Amino acid sequence: MSDSSSQQPRTAGPATRRPSVGVRVGKIMVGGGAPVVVQSMTNTDTEDPASTAKQIAELARAGSEVVRITVNTPAAAAAVPRIAERLAMMGVDVPIVGDFHYNGHQLLEAEPACAEVLAKYRINPGNVGFGKKKDSQFASIIEKAIQYGKPVRIGANWGSLDQGMVATLMDENAQRPQPWDAGVVAREALIRSALDSAARAEQIGLPRDRIILSCKVSGVQELIAVYRDLATRCDYALHLGLTEAGMGSKGITASAAALAVLLQEGIGDTIRISLTPEPGGSRTQEVIVAQELLQTMGLRAFTPLVTACPGCGRTTSEFFQELAKTVQGHVRAKMPEWRVMYDGVENLTLAVMGCVVNGPGESKHANIGISLPGNGEAPSAPVFIDGEKAMTLRGDRIAEEFVGILDDYVARKYATRTA
Ligand code: SF4
Repeated sequence: MSDSSSQQPRTAGPATRRPSVGVRVGKIMVGGGAPVVVQSMTNTDTEDPASTAKQIAELARAGSEVVRITVNTPAAAAAVPRIAERLAMMGVDVPIVGDFHYNGHQLLEAEPACAEVLAKYRINPGNVGFGKKKDSQFASIIEKAIQYGKPVRIGANWGSLDQGMVATLMDENAQRPQPWDAGVVAREALIRSALDSAARAEQIGLPRDRIILSCKVSGVQELIAVYRDLATRCDYALHLGLTEAGMGSKGITASAAALAVLLQEGIGDTIRISLTPEPGGSRTQEVIVAQELLQTMGLRAFTPLVTACPGCGRTTSEFFQELAKTVQGHVRAKMPEWRVMYDGVENLTLAVMGCVVNGPGESKHANIGISLPGNGEAPSAPVFIDGEKAMTLRGDRIAEEFVGILDDYVARKYATRTA
């Protein structure tokens, strides 16, 4: 029997990143060892430059490092340069990716300014065209990418599988002594569709460092299986995302479950969380979830996160929940300004705890922590700064005073950025 106490405990943290070829998307590097990039997609009508530019700006200000827009009609393609002009006037500098289906070859040919302005083209091998026209339409998009010096994401999707590829693999499968099950054949079709298309793009002349791949499915276990396989079969940079993840907590949970497993294994160079917004909800939620996923996994730091206990019968006051919400909201509201002013502020850690059981201990681990009084405890809230008890707050202005302490700390602790 082995002596488990003599074994070295496993260290916490993700596996070494899968090596991939770096691809420059405008000013952003994807893959090649660069930090995992957060991206998002608009849901405005691209033909409307004002609302599309406004939403791109919101997504970029929330932290999206690349933003994709659909380019589906001649009017949408014609609007792309106008969207870029509006963004420049707003002082927003973010790479814009054009999402093309069916008519991308025509739109890129008809609107050279659109082809020029976009930082990347996204095409789906299942939707480039059909029948005999498919190969020539694929080739003409790749030729445009070569002409304009743009990278291309070849994004296969479960919902629009290349039917020619499916038929070929079904025939191959029928010849096997023990045929694979239909799910395995479909996964193989998705992967082969992406890999074969990438190989064809390279034959046409698109360099390897201008190709990103994705193979999106809507099931968590299928996505993990597909990307594990894809990751071992190529060194292209990979875009990760669970397609059609859904709404609210279901979409967030499913995306996080799938992407966390893959990121932990070192797979994935850029991520998008495909959430269906609540009616009237903000599109920026998908950016916040992507950032929080990467940050809570220790892969990147974007914004100070608040550690808060869940609350229990020892703290019946809603004040504790309100304080946690106020502090997280304050930090998010301040971050655009802090990010520009202070170096390293995204690494700040905060704790808002409901009572004395875990409050002081958790507060000491944070840069700033507060432990509110639980039921029956003295009505005082000790504040810890860098592990030491610094002061005690009392009365009905605890929230304002704590936020003031936080602002002072940030100004003192983080060096002012030089331009
Ligand atoms: S810190 Fe206190 S209030 Fe919060 S969950 Fe633990 S025991 Fe409950």
